[in-house]
Amino acid sequence: MSTPANPLPVLGTPARKPEEEIRPLKAPVDPATLTHRQLLGGEFWRRIPAYADVTEEQFLDHNWQSKHTIMKPEKLLEAVHGLVSPEFIADCRVGFERAPMSVRVSPYMLSLVDWEHPYEDPLRIQFIPVGSRLLPDHPKLGLDSLHELEDSPVAGLTHRYPDKALFLPLDTCPVYCRFCTRSYAIGIDTEQVEKVHFKAKTERWQAAFKYISSRVELEDIVVSGGDAYNLRASQVSEIGEALLAMPNIRRIRFATKGPAVMPQKILTDHAWTDAITGIVEKGRKLHKEVVIHTHFNHPKEITEITARAMNLLFERGITVRNQSVLQRGVNDTVDVMKLLVKRLGHVNVHPYYVYVHDLVRGVEDLRTTLDTALTLEKHVRGATAGFNTPTFVVDAPGGGGKRDAHSFETYDRENGISVYTSPAVKQGQFYLYYDPLQLLSPNAQERWSIPAMQKQMVEAAIERAHDQVRPFR
Ligand SMILES: *Cc1c(COP(=O)(O)O)cnc(C)c1O
Ligand code: SF4
Repeated sequence: MSTPANPLPVLGTPARKPEEEIRPLKAPVDPATLTHRQLLGGEFWRRIPAYADVTEEQFLDHNWQSKHTIMKPEKLLEAVHGLVSPEFIADCRVGFERAPMSVRVSPYMLSLVDWEHPYEDPLRIQFIPVGSRLLPDHPKLGLDSLHELEDSPVAGLTHRYPDKALFLPLDTCPVYCRFCTRSYAIGIDTEQVEKVHFKAKTERWQAAFKYISSRVELEDIVVSGGDAYNLRASQVSEIGEALLAMPNIRRIRFATKGPAVMPQKILTDHAWTDAITGIVEKGRKLHKEVVIHTHFNHPKEITEITARAMNLLFERGITVRNQSVLQRGVNDTVDVMKLLVKRLGHVNVHPYYVYVHDLVRGVEDLRTTLDTALTLEKHVRGATAGFNTPTFVVDAPGGGGKRDAHSFETYDRENGISVYTSPAVKQGQFYLYYDPLQLLSPNAQERWSIPAMQKQMVEAAIERAHDQVRPFR
């Protein structure tokens, strides 16, 4: 080996070291610790007795997944019979009776649950309620906490922000999440909730399209639901074409939880995937952005099947962004959240938002404190690329829209009250978010049990916020 030529030292800086002498600033990394790259593969579903004989071809077939999706509590309990204790089964029965959401679980999801530890499993927690873990609702909680119905000029269309609107073409999803913000509408009626329904009907859509094209300021439409996975290919095209034809519309997002709960559809429902691709490509020619927004909450939801599906979308040039919901026992630790963010990046999905859990009925066990969100954000930012770092947001109860979690005017950690303003949506209004009572100190819980004290705490928080807000031009 030849000796490297001695570089001329610049005055005041030490001469550069020869190349072979790398300064060990960072300890070497064992590749085995890069767990975000280690995706579950193989025929993992065969662990479930009901799927023991299911071949890979069947499991990848979206028709097989849809046909075997479980929509009745009894069927679910049948499928896990022998895997869990009779006590757990009894606990689920109580959970189903009291849940605001109906049950809908895909075989893919069911196969990913660790049935040896069902109480702790992050997927079980999201989809299957158990009576013993349910907690009483916060006294400030209502069914449509985001006031989506109030901001609706047309059934199934929420126009809250100046230039963007939320269109709900249907009210079904490939699975039903316990924590759904739209439990007022999504899924079939339950013993607890009789829902507002948004059927996939072209006449209602026409009314929404008419409104959207009449509002020149609207540029950006979120096609949500429900779930775009449950639209037929022809309906995806119909909605996409109608919106792309409006000169005011520049951006469209199709929202679907599909990639997280049934990635098979992207791989084998060619008509649906081609319909989305067609709209994306047509949009590109018109210089309009059409993307997919999805909803992964836990790194375990991302398998080799997911990677194949996301690779297919990536090859077609389709941007996929992710919106997670922060949930207690699911993704409320630094390790899990970091792993989720890194693994999303690994499969070319951009982490966009992490929502602080909305004030939704019947799922108080899933909410956590704003402080948890702030702490997680601090640890996640810097762990990977900035564009793969999600913004932690609070969707302000009462219709204030999404706020950066850090942007509160005041946050009373002791009583769990944070106050936000939302000048771009509504001037001069305060929006309050409440931490779950069970995570507050015993003294604070005591205060919340007294109605007069509740009023006093809330008024004090608003007063402090008043003092905090300064006019800004
Ligand atoms: C979330 C949401 C949007 C989109 O908001 P972004 O912050 O741009 O993702 C639009 N309308 C409503 C009513 C929403 O809830
Ligand atoms: S996929 Fe979305 S809309 Fe459907 S139940 Fe889950 S959270 Fe609600």
